[in-house]
Amino acid sequence: ELYQPPGISKPCFVRVNTLKVDVDSASRQLSEQFKVERDALVPNLLILPPNTDLHSHPLVLGGSVFVQGRASSMVATALDPRPGWQVIDACAAPGNKTVHLAALMNGKGKIVACELNKDRIKRLEDTVKLSGARNIEIFHGDFLNLDPHHSSFSQIRAILLDPSCSGSGTAAQRLDHLLPSHSTHDDDTERLNKLAGFQKKALIHALSFPSVEKVVYSTCSVNRIENEDVVSSVLPLASSLGFELSTPFPQWTRRGLPVLQGSDHLLRMDPAEDKEGFFIALFTKKATCIDSSQ
Ligand code: SAM
Repeated sequence: ELYQPPGISKPCFVRVNTLKVDVDSASRQLSEQFKVERDALVPNLLILPPNTDLHSHPLVLGGSVFVQGRASSMVATALDPRPGWQVIDACAAPGNKTVHLAALMNGKGKIVACELNKDRIKRLEDTVKLSGARNIEIFHGDFLNLDPHHSSFSQIRAILLDPSCSGSGTAAQRLDHLLPSHSTHDDDTERLNKLAGFQKKALIHALSFPSVEKVVYSTCSVNRIENEDVVSSVLPLASSLGFELSTPFPQWTRRGLPVLQGSDHLLRMDPAEDKEGFFIALFTKKATCIDSSQ
């Protein structure tokens, strides 16, 4: 699982920033130099050969395309915010999913991009600037301190929650475990418990915004404690608030671990099969609970 033989390395995924260029045009320009395919699952996502070096390509430098993994690009797509909506990206930096939301919303409506870490705010600002989106408000602070009942959040219809996680689905983290300096099992457990504690709190907080209709939760972790267990612990409350689990990308076959009712709604990516580990859960308010006048 840890060893990736040369030759079957991960393709390079590129998301077209439709705020700046349409997918046909980007694809045409890239195919002058590279073999380009369209991803069958995520709209506006292009697949280039592994190890394609794009860092100085004009489309990248100008923010017309973003090098962004397939799993990462599935999160905003799963949330499917509409132009004109008001949306929160709860844990936003460096902002890849924030600017994806902006593209899906055609630059219309409002996105509040919340980020706690001061050093990462600059990266978020740079990403937003590069994207050309003008409907993103950056908020430097703790998502848990945003008051769901404050008038400025009364129209929030969707929340993307991609909180800090162990990163155990990423190649770098998986290789870390091979290092002699790697922390002990006890350290790992304590760290995971802490992360899961925050993830649960943040998910409950997201579900508590009064007009929110959809919340997408994602991690680049393969640990059940950060994924299925987080979902399962918030389900009773979610359900009392009128939410149910929806099925992002129903055609995707790898679903959640069968440790809770409704695990088939959850989406998993597998490090061995998909070259990255990832998790997505989508909460949707049942139709009867949505005020149709909005
Ligand atoms: N969604 C981002 C993207 O796709 O570019 C990646 C987000 S990263 C996994 C998680 C981010 O959440 C980090 O930048 C971290 O600093 C931030 N964060 C952690 N705790 C937070 C909190 N309580 N409120 C807001 N942001 C927080």
